[in-house]
Amino acid sequence: MSQDRSCGECTMCCIDLSIDSPELKKHTGVECDYCIEKIGCSIYSKRPAECSNWFCLWMVKDVFGDEWRPDRSGILLNFMGDKSGIPDSYNTQDVIDIRIIHTNGLLNSLRFLDFVCNFIDGGVPLFVSVSGGPGYLASKVFLNDGMASAVQSRDIEKVTKELHKAIQAAIDHPKKRVELGGE
Ligand code: SF4
Ligand code: SF4
Repeated sequence: MSQDRSCGECTMCCIDLSIDSPELKKHTGVECDYCIEKIGCSIYSKRPAECSNWFCLWMVKDVFGDEWRPDRSGILLNFMGDKSGIPDSYNTQDVIDIRIIHTNGLLNSLRFLDFVCNFIDGGVPLFVSVSGGPGYLASKVFLNDGMASAVQSRDIEKVTKELHKAIQAAIDHPKKRVELGGE
């Protein structure tokens, strides 16, 4: 983890993630009962391992400046544990999920489009995902193959168009309910 980083006013993962541990069950898209707006976790030292072991990429990679903090950027980046849906030709060591939280941040910025292009150029598997709403799995769409030609052209209009097409496909995807243990 980056030495200089702290979550500050961001509490995005305490809303976005589902927690299914013996101590705490919480659906995705629902703010955790222990979360204090703009302050963070009220049970920080006793939070479940699922919380303490999880960090977004902004917390661990200095390459993402302050403007990338998820509440500011509207983009929650994380390494994906689930490697399904990736063609065999890709190295699945570092798979990144780009969760779109809101559209008032970096989504349409050159900085964000550059990040997408550079990572696709570098062969890093990228997914874009949108929340499925409270209690429903986020839908994700694999970006690399669909965006390859736009990225190669470095035509920013084409890149933007393909990215928004993928986001729309994730929005339109049928949503699946998450069952937490004991439900
Ligand atoms: S999304 Fe990242 S910065 Fe925001 S609260 Fe979670 S770990 Fe901290
Ligand atoms: S227990 Fe704390 S860290 Fe975990 S989701 Fe709730 S508020 Fe966030």
